[in-house]
Amino acid sequence: MTTPKRSLLKIILLGDSGVGKTSLMNQYVYKKFRAQYKATIGADFVTKELQIDDKLVTLQIWDTAGQERFQSLGVAFYRGADCCILVFDVNVLKSFETLQVWHQDFLKQVDPSNPEKFPFVLIGNKVDVDGGNSRVVSEKTAREWCEAKGNIPYFETSAKEDYNVEDAFINCAQIALATHPINIWPLDEEMPSHCDLERIQESMTGADLPRGGCAC
Ligand code: GDP
Ligand code: MG
Repeated sequence: MTTPKRSLLKIILLGDSGVGKTSLMNQYVYKKFRAQYKATIGADFVTKELQIDDKLVTLQIWDTAGQERFQSLGVAFYRGADCCILVFDVNVLKSFETLQVWHQDFLKQVDPSNPEKFPFVLIGNKVDVDGGNSRVVSEKTAREWCEAKGNIPYFETSAKEDYNVEDAFINCAQIALATHPINIWPLDEEMPSHCDLERIQESMTGADLPRGGCAC
């Protein structure tokens, strides 16, 4: 008899501080939005189960602990990523310009065998702000960037108003499933539901961690 399996996908969120990465994750996973700014503490991942076609998929979504301000996320963060969601704020030009650096950094750290085919998704967040009047990056400009990077899917979202958030994450899972040999986790084995990145990094003195997993 074969044990039913589920796929485990590691998804990482990258982008400048303040663009709404944590808010997007919280909106998608917990359906919650927090208006006041609270720097992410104890970066880790959260999991979300979903079904795509006939496949049971567990998304392991990794958010930063705000270390993106120092551009030092560490190897554990990137290791074994199946899809990378790049996020910018449509009202902040700098956050769009920096995408280039995040994209490059990611490829450098992960070093995928086929970088042109690696699944990325781009999110232009905060489209709700000021009814769109303070927007400085147009949809056209964002789409051109995506095209130049090998047709990355693009989503305009509002984590605040829960606009397009789920679609962006589901698309990310779909393209990751389509392009990656995936991690299979037996259904009867407990999977960690969250994890403290600092603990992982501390425990990472030379020893190799399981792909997409942690030592907690
Ligand atoms: P991170 O540093 O990328 O994780 O960004 P956060 O998720 O912490 O968000 C930074 C700030 O932007 C917080 O005050 C959020 O409440 C706010 N924010 C995030 N997403 C949205 C959005 O879609 N619309 C609006 N108006 N504010 C948002
Ligand atoms: Mg954050």
